[in-house]
Amino acid sequence: MPTKDELAERISTKVIGEYSKLKAVCRPVTRPTGIGEWTILAGVAAINRDASADNIKVLSIATGVKALPDSELQRSRGKLLHDCHAEILALRGANTVFLNHIKDWDLKNVDDLIESNNEIPPKFKLKEKWELALYISKLPCGDASMDFLNDNCKSDDDFLEIDDDDIFQYVNPNVKTILRGRLNFGKKSVVRTKPGRYDSNITLSKSCSDKLLMRQSSSILNSLNSALFAQPVFLRYIVIPNLDKKTRHALEQSFHSRLPFCSHQFEFLNCHTPFYDDKNDENSVPSLMCSTKLFINDSTIEEAILNGMKNGFYTKSSKPLRKNCESHLSRFAQWELFTQIRPEYKDTSYLQFKAQQTERNQLIISIKAALSPDGWIPTKTDDVK
Ligand SMILES: [Zn+2]
Repeated sequence: MPTKDELAERISTKVIGEYSKLKAVCRPVTRPTGIGEWTILAGVAAINRDASADNIKVLSIATGVKALPDSELQRSRGKLLHDCHAEILALRGANTVFLNHIKDWDLKNVDDLIESNNEIPPKFKLKEKWELALYISKLPCGDASMDFLNDNCKSDDDFLEIDDDDIFQYVNPNVKTILRGRLNFGKKSVVRTKPGRYDSNITLSKSCSDKLLMRQSSSILNSLNSALFAQPVFLRYIVIPNLDKKTRHALEQSFHSRLPFCSHQFEFLNCHTPFYDDKNDENSVPSLMCSTKLFINDSTIEEAILNGMKNGFYTKSSKPLRKNCESHLSRFAQWELFTQIRPEYKDTSYLQFKAQQTERNQLIISIKAALSPDGWIPTKTDDVK
C-alpha cells in the first residue's frame, strides 16, 4: 500500500506525463519577443483503491488561466467555455468523459469505469474500486490562495490595495459578500470573481476556490450527469505541488470551514515534483492558449482552446460564431451527448431541463446562500436548444 505522499507523487507524475505528450500548440510558447509563457495544469484521475496505486487512470487533463468577459457570452448559445481555468476545465472534461462512457454503454462490453443498475432506463455509478483525485499545479485562485499573492502574482496589474469601505471592490454594491477578483485581498471567506484586469470587461465567473468548494458539497457531476447517475460522485483528494504547513492550513481553512456539514471534505495531498511550465521567471506572462485532453476508453480527444472556443475558429465578438467552433467540453457538446442518451429531451432546452432538477437546484441554492448571504450574481444566461 503506497503512502499518501507516494500516491500524490504517482498522480502528479501521470498527469504531467500526459501533459508532456500534448501537441506543441496546446502548451505555452516563447513569444517572438523572447518572452516566455506559463500556465496552470490540472487533471482528474481515478485511483484503484485496492492497494495497487499503480492502477491510476487519468480521465481528463487541462491547462488554462483565462476566463471570458461576461459581455462575450451574448452570442454563445452554449458554445463558449465561460471559464478556462485549468481545474474547472479538467472537471468539465471528466463530465464529458462520463457522458461518453454512458453513450457507449453496452452491457456485453463491460465498462471499466462505470456500472449500471437495473432501472429502465438504467442509472449509473462509478465502480466501487475507483476513487477520484484532482491534481492542480498551483493553489486555486480565490479564497484559498489569498495569503500567497505576494509570491504568486506580484507583477499582475490587478493586485491592488483597497480599503474595506471602497465600493470598487464589489461587482454589485448591494452584494458585499462577492468581491471582484483580488481586490481587498486581506478579506477572507468571501466569494470572489475570477481575477482579471480592471480596465477590461469583467468576468462574472467565480474563483476556483469557490467553485471547487461548491463541488465538494454538491458532487463533481454536472446537471446532466446528475440525472444519469444513481448517486453523486465526489473527489477524495486534491494534489498540489509543494504544500507546506502554511498553504495546507489555508486550504483547510477555506475548504473545511466556509460551508457547514460537508461529509466529503477534500483531503489535500502534497507532491514534490513541480510543474515545469509554471511561472518560473519574473518576466514570463500567462499563456492565452488553454487546452484539454480527454481519455475515453481507448480513445482520446485533444483540443487547443482560445477565447473559449476551439483554436482556429475565433471571430470578432461583433460577428456570429463559426460552425463547429465549440469544444467537446462546451455546454452545447455536452447537451448533444445527453440528448443522444436520452432522446426524449430533444425538444427541451438545456436550461428548461436544468430547471427540472429540483433537488439539485435546492442544494445549490442553499450552498450559494451560505457562501454569499447578500445574494448571488450569476453569469449571463446561456441556453442550448
Ligand atoms: Zn482559478
